[in-house]
Amino acid sequence: MSAVPNIHLVDGSRNGHPTAEQKDVDLAAATRAAADLLAALGADLHSDHLRETPRRVAEAYAELLSPAQFNATTFPNDEGYDELVVVRGIPFQSLCAHHLLPFHGQAHVAYLPGARIVGLSKIGRVVDLFAHELQVQERLTTQVADWLVRALDPRGVGVIVEADHLCMSLRGVQKPGSLTVTSALRGAVKDDPRTRQEFLELVGRDGRR
Ligand code: ZN
Repeated sequence: MSAVPNIHLVDGSRNGHPTAEQKDVDLAAATRAAADLLAALGADLHSDHLRETPRRVAEAYAELLSPAQFNATTFPNDEGYDELVVVRGIPFQSLCAHHLLPFHGQAHVAYLPGARIVGLSKIGRVVDLFAHELQVQERLTTQVADWLVRALDPRGVGVIVEADHLCMSLRGVQKPGSLTVTSALRGAVKDDPRTRQEFLELVGRDGRR
């Protein structure tokens, strides 16, 4: 089995986007390690159900940690649009860096355009890009916000992430149904109370829902 290149490739041609960070997943080594882990947990690797499990585990984690490449083309804001652009309820799933268990939820992302705008579908792909690595929710939230700041040089950015962490709901303190909410506000969304309030209302986080 050969290594599958795991490449973060974001168009770095404008405004200092985060550039490609290349990682390699060694599937053969991951398969051996998964077998070791299962054996250490007392599993019988010769049973019918488990025989191929180490390979499946390695492939599943490789997939979860392989972000899809995309070209984040931006456009000049020729129409001079100057109100918040909000993409609400972007579903995502990620892997908790502390327990290697999934966490999943929704991201709400907004920006106040300056000179440039970006295709709306790309905002979901930015969330996906950063979700496909070993993550902590706080870092995911700030990475999405900082990406928008760098790519678009907008007048403001707001990102709210709400997620259910299986490491919390299945084990440990076992609080099923609890959501962890994180936010990253930049520019006018942070500093201008009216813009911030509008953002919170548009994503249903103004406490009146
Ligand atoms: Zn965790």
